[in-house]
Amino acid sequence: MTTEIIGLRKSFGSFEALRSISLSIKRGEFIAILGPSGCGKTTLLRLIAGFKQPTAGEILIDGVRVSAKETVIPPERRNIGMVFQSFALWPHLNVQEHVEFPLRHHPYTPAAMKKRYKERAQEVLKLVGLGHLAKRMPNELSGGQKQRVALARALAHQPALLLMDEPLSSLDAELREDMRKEIQSLHHLTKSSIIYVTHDQAEALAMADRIVIMKDGQIEQVGTPEEIFLYPETRYVAGFVGKATIMSGTWEGDTFRPSAAPAIHWDGVDVADEFKQYGSYPVRPDEWVMSREQKGIEAKVVNALYQGREIHYAVKVGDQTINVIRPMTVRYAIGEKVCLQKQERAKQQKEQVV
Ligand code: ATP
Repeated sequence: MTTEIIGLRKSFGSFEALRSISLSIKRGEFIAILGPSGCGKTTLLRLIAGFKQPTAGEILIDGVRVSAKETVIPPERRNIGMVFQSFALWPHLNVQEHVEFPLRHHPYTPAAMKKRYKERAQEVLKLVGLGHLAKRMPNELSGGQKQRVALARALAHQPALLLMDEPLSSLDAELREDMRKEIQSLHHLTKSSIIYVTHDQAEALAMADRIVIMKDGQIEQVGTPEEIFLYPETRYVAGFVGKATIMSGTWEGDTFRPSAAPAIHWDGVDVADEFKQYGSYPVRPDEWVMSREQKGIEAKVVNALYQGREIHYAVKVGDQTINVIRPMTVRYAIGEKVCLQKQERAKQQKEQVV
């Protein structure tokens, strides 16, 4: 199923929650919508689901216009499944009945599947590792188990499009990691397109084929995880996804000289025009090399957080605080004077690809 979003707008009174969103989603694609709280992610998902009516623009699913200002096909008549942050289970139905419900009642359930809805429900429960808990009620399940029921219910009738709104945010870190893997393998098995809303950049980078970065009701950048992480097009994306420090300086063609040490220069052939326009260069914490040699930008360590495999330093360059991630091999003390250099992009990216 392909989904085409064209010039979509949504206002609440005089407030514009979505401002001209256009996006094409291919069959079987896993799209993550990433952005901070309030940027319009849920509003966009609800418009795609058919819960809300757009103020302008339209949504086409497989070429059929399902949402526009004048007309909206409701969610139950779309070939979609939904998973919410709150699980939204029904307290009076057991696990098996949750999964049977869409199989029996959804208009898009294939007829053969509808006939054998009991077996199909059992198959799907096995798929999400809940085969043994079919008779349990929602109040007898853990958070992770509830989330699996919500997933099974959404997947059971094999929707062409699965919409997920922060489905893992109420789970603890370890369970989240497990569920990420499960959602990914379910995606490979079912081949449904997925639109997955999250404010967690690690989740988006790990799972999606393409990431849509939103800010203030607009799309900032759309790209593969690598494109978004390595080649941010705006200062906002560089800061939000890569946690980059924006260094100021001067550009001469594709060469950048940081104001903090104008004698050095960095190659910036891959740096987006927005940075060149504003005399800036984004550097991610993992791109810095820190040393005691008098080479590069002079800095002072102001904080060091031990993280097991690496150390997260905060260092000061004039008034600017720069975040630096370094391996455990050399340790620097708080208050120590150091020098910062930026790793060659080509070299570093090659290492990341390997
Ligand atoms: P979060 O990550 O916190 O869930 P979000 O990116 O999903 O945020 P939305 O829920 O889409 O954000 O909300 C976008 C903006 O629209 C917010 O400023 C919100 O206050 C506003 N908004 C959403 N629904 C309504 C409504 N029914 N009436 C008025 N304003 C609304």
